[in-house]
This record gives sequence, structure tokens and C-alpha cells, in this order.
Amino acid sequence: MSIPKIKRSYIGQLPYDSDLLDGLTELVRREDIKLGRIQGIGATTHAIVAYYDQNTKTYSPLEFDGGMEIVSLSGNVSLRDGKPFVHVHILLSDANGKVYGGHLMKGTKLFACEMTIDEFEGDQLERGKDERTGLFLWKTGQMISDKP
Ligand code: ZN
Repeated sequence: MSIPKIKRSYIGQLPYDSDLLDGLTELVRREDIKLGRIQGIGATTHAIVAYYDQNTKTYSPLEFDGGMEIVSLSGNVSLRDGKPFVHVHILLSDANGKVYGGHLMKGTKLFACEMTIDEFEGDQLERGKDERTGLFLWKTGQMISDKP
């Protein structure tokens, strides 16, 4: 399996006290990134992540008030309703190094964040409601590859 070629890469930081998910979404929409990979590290002053309950098909939020390290931020950019859409998961650690994580939600405020976004060339992935999981997954079950 191979991944598409990188068209552009961005590296930089998001502002203090900004909303992490909103900041990433604004950036990919401003730069018109339709397919990409997001990675990052940093720290939060308040974080909201969610756990997806596969039985009830609902997200249960978990909140972390106070400083946490962003040990890892990992996700992607694809299209939902025709617009660039960010899907990111995050690992956070506390003062004892204990790690928590989940699906990043709006409301996560940054202390600092250094991130990289790679935009890929070629085809696009569009999200749509998947009845079996209740999630908005990629409509195609196929892989996108850099091989013709
Ligand atoms: Zn998720």
C-alpha cells in the first residue's frame, strides 16, 4: 500500500488560547486543503475529547480542565458536504504522565501547538453517513494510492 504524493506541506503553530479544532478547520479551508494528514504536539489549558459508544452510536465527551500535554495529535483532512473537514484524535498527558485520549472536540483551548499538515495530490475522499457504524466515513471503500 502506498500513499498519495505530498503536494504542499505546512509547519507552524496555532495561537495561545485559540480553539484547536476551529483553528485547524479554518486553516484547511483557507488553504483549500481537500486531502491531507495532520500531526502535532503541544499543550492545552482545557480539553474536550470524545469516546464513541458503538452500541448507542453516540459520542460521550470527556473534559480535562487545567494544563495537559498534547503527546500526540494525529488525523486527516477530507471532504464533508463538499468542504474540507478535519478529523483528529489526540493523546493528552497529565502531571503524572498518565495519558488520556479520544476524538478531538470543539472547545479544546491551546496553551501551545506545533503542527504539520501535509496536503496530498490527486483524488479526494468524501464523507457520508455509514449506516452500520453511524459514523460519517469515507464513501469509497477503496484506498487512494499514488499508483495508477
Ligand atoms: Zn474520531
